[in-house]
Amino acid sequence: MIRDTARLDALIAELRAFVREECLPLEASIDREDAIPEPMVERMRALGLFGHSIPEAYGGAGLTTEELARVNIEVSQAAPVFRARFGGNTGIASEALISDGLPEQKAQWLPRLARGELTGCFALTEPEAGSDATALRTRAVPALGDGGRSGWRIDGAKCYITNAPIADLFTVFARTDDTPRGASGITAFLMPRGTPGLSTGPAYRKLGQHGSPVGEVFLDGVWVPDDAVLGGRPGEGFRSAMRALNKQRINLAALCVGPAIRLLDEAIAHARTRRQFGQPIGEFQLVQAMLADSATEIAAARALVLETARKRDDGGDVTMDVSMCKLLASETCGRVADRAVQILGGAGYIEDHPIVRLYRDVRLFRLYEGTSQIHQLNIAKHLLRDGA
Ligand SMILES: Cc1cc2nc3c(=O)[nH]c(=O)nc-3n(C[C@H](O)[C@H](O)[C@H](O)COP(=O)(O)OP(=O)(O)OC[C@H]3O[C@@H](n4cnc5c(N)ncnc54)[C@H](O)[C@@H]3O)c2cc1C
Repeated sequence: MIRDTARLDALIAELRAFVREECLPLEASIDREDAIPEPMVERMRALGLFGHSIPEAYGGAGLTTEELARVNIEVSQAAPVFRARFGGNTGIASEALISDGLPEQKAQWLPRLARGELTGCFALTEPEAGSDATALRTRAVPALGDGGRSGWRIDGAKCYITNAPIADLFTVFARTDDTPRGASGITAFLMPRGTPGLSTGPAYRKLGQHGSPVGEVFLDGVWVPDDAVLGGRPGEGFRSAMRALNKQRINLAALCVGPAIRLLDEAIAHARTRRQFGQPIGEFQLVQAMLADSATEIAAARALVLETARKRDDGGDVTMDVSMCKLLASETCGRVADRAVQILGGAGYIEDHPIVRLYRDVRLFRLYEGTSQIHQLNIAKHLLRDGA
């Protein structure tokens, strides 16, 4: 749903200028140095990028799912690392709080997340619980704190958590019943950095998305009061996580379309200028086929993302659609990246070219927030239950 076309167009134009004039010139140095310069983060704050999806009542822009998808397609035409810096706050790290948080929890955290004063993270994955997230072992048991205050003691460890090394607010999922697995005994806790017993590891050295710190979270006898339970109801955490991920999968699918457009543009530029056999390689029909297939697949992914976003805004059930979006868009982006490297030829393996960096960066999209196989399983589950 687009509420005000002129306003959205103005926002998109502003973001397009930001991407082209301010982000693209920094891509190579961020990749080399594995860090986003603080003045750039300050600029992101000034542009309101941390609060796009947060309701206006809490200082955000309150974008609808479709508006956010349009914005995500735009901002992700710069290296994904830029969006990764603010994307937790306007995605996975605030969604559970927005959909299920108590009014006082929203008032406490959302305005500061929207301003980018705090960086949030979403800590679900564990060494033994990735695709099978309900197998998580982090354990929370009722425990009295200082002065006999009622709360929880939490022990465990999380891995692969985006922004954990720099996060100020952690949404941590822990088991609060005695069963070894299953969704119903999982609770989400909100905990700020500085909570005794909560610590983070250094950022991993990764294949791509250099400058986006991802790391472990350690919970060693962490004590939190009852009011740290997201939504105030133990046992609801996994449902909160799935609600957040349902929306996030549309966001992520849009974030796959942006880099695919950029990759195709970079490949077209190369095909126009690189000459072999006395002519630009873009004159060869086999190269044209790669460009044409890429453009067609991108158009299909973009259309599905926007249609699914509209369906969600209209209150439709999108649990199967989000898997189709995420699967199609991430696999499309991967294929487009592979063809772009092919069009670059040997330079696609050797040079510090945007296509080379993006090829590494976008490989992640098929892995996180549900691997392609997990989304295939989800789609098939719905099909076998409901038919096509
Ligand atoms: C850079 C990065 C950032 C991340 N950020 C976050 C974050 O912020 N928060 C967070 O909680 N997590 C995060 N993750 C974790 C991510 O969501 C998981 O890595 C992902 O869900 C896959 O889990 P896994 O790595 O344990 O792989 P596994 O589950 O071990 O999967 C390995 C392979 O087995 C396949 N497989 C598994 N089960 C099945 C099945 N039933 N049928 C068929 N095939 C199957 C998978 O598709 C995959 O190909 C991040 C990961 C990375 C790499």
